[in-house]
Amino acid sequence: MICCIECFRDTELKSMISSYEKKGDCEICGAKDTYIYDTVNDNYLAEYLDELLDVYTYKERLPCDYPVNLLNNLSKELVEKWRMFNISEEKVRELIINICKEKYDSESKLFIEPIGILELYDKDYLEKNCILKTHQWESFKYSITNINRFHSDHINTEVLGKLFGNMCSEYKTGTILYRARISDESGYKSKDMGAPPPRLISAGRANSEGISCLYLADNIDTTIHEIRARDLDYISVGSFELKKNIKVVDLSYIENFSPFSTGYDLTWLAVNIELLKKIGKEISKPLRRQDSILDYLPTQYISDFVKHLGYDGIKYKSTLSSDGNNFAIFSEKNFKCNKVEVYHINELEYHKKKVK
Ligand SMILES: [Zn+2]
Repeated sequence: MICCIECFRDTELKSMISSYEKKGDCEICGAKDTYIYDTVNDNYLAEYLDELLDVYTYKERLPCDYPVNLLNNLSKELVEKWRMFNISEEKVRELIINICKEKYDSESKLFIEPIGILELYDKDYLEKNCILKTHQWESFKYSITNINRFHSDHINTEVLGKLFGNMCSEYKTGTILYRARISDESGYKSKDMGAPPPRLISAGRANSEGISCLYLADNIDTTIHEIRARDLDYISVGSFELKKNIKVVDLSYIENFSPFSTGYDLTWLAVNIELLKKIGKEISKPLRRQDSILDYLPTQYISDFVKHLGYDGIKYKSTLSSDGNNFAIFSEKNFKCNKVEVYHINELEYHKKKVK
């Protein structure tokens, strides 16, 4: 079976396929004259995917009281959890059997039966190795909102710190990021484009009330989307120049990362990956008028922890603009607003989805 670089989403596997420089037409996705992998003659992907498959145990070998909601099928795990492929689950199932043929010959049930991760049902393992120990995100949220706000024992900070250590990006002096404010036609001055003074600081997803945080974006469209500009509004957009090199925890990294590039034990990563995605998703959620500020507590906790570790901010994907990223910068002194431009919103597109 011939597959190609386009069939894969995982960056490491893609770069391996391109490094072999074997070209042809793909039997699976139909791409022409592209870098291909021939499952009959090539073997180099098998060891990587076999290692990932070793994380899993098929149902028959799991404890009989293993929770049903933790079971899944292999192709769904590879597509949804690990984002290995760009092709349908049915095609993944066929392809993975062909790539990992030796494993299929010795353990075919792994490819056919529901599978689970044994460690997800092992309390001792989870206590030591999972971001949320044995808890769920919702119980962390309940606990920090209703039981103990400042001394939560739900988070395994050692694990979270280790994961963040591999998700940090450095930004160099001179980097330009943007912040927008709704204004009038004459616009704001540079000195008015920064974070508000402490007594006026309201709570956000990455900061508690009274704690300063400069929210920036990496392009102008994103920052305009983030402030929910309306039709006919005037917008002041400040360009903020970075004054020193900074390190931020990049929560958008989890969208495109490859498990094979981290050097982590894959089982350890497997029990934490969904929680990392959840943290990224929660911090990216736009603020809504009907939100209670208590809704922001879990991500404020994470943000304070990132600050406590000594990083300068958090980067996360914008959900309001398709290719933009936002930054929550802990100290606005690291940036200087050196230019303000005023924009007029003369056309606004509404995208709606019927929910009822
Ligand atoms: Zn293909």
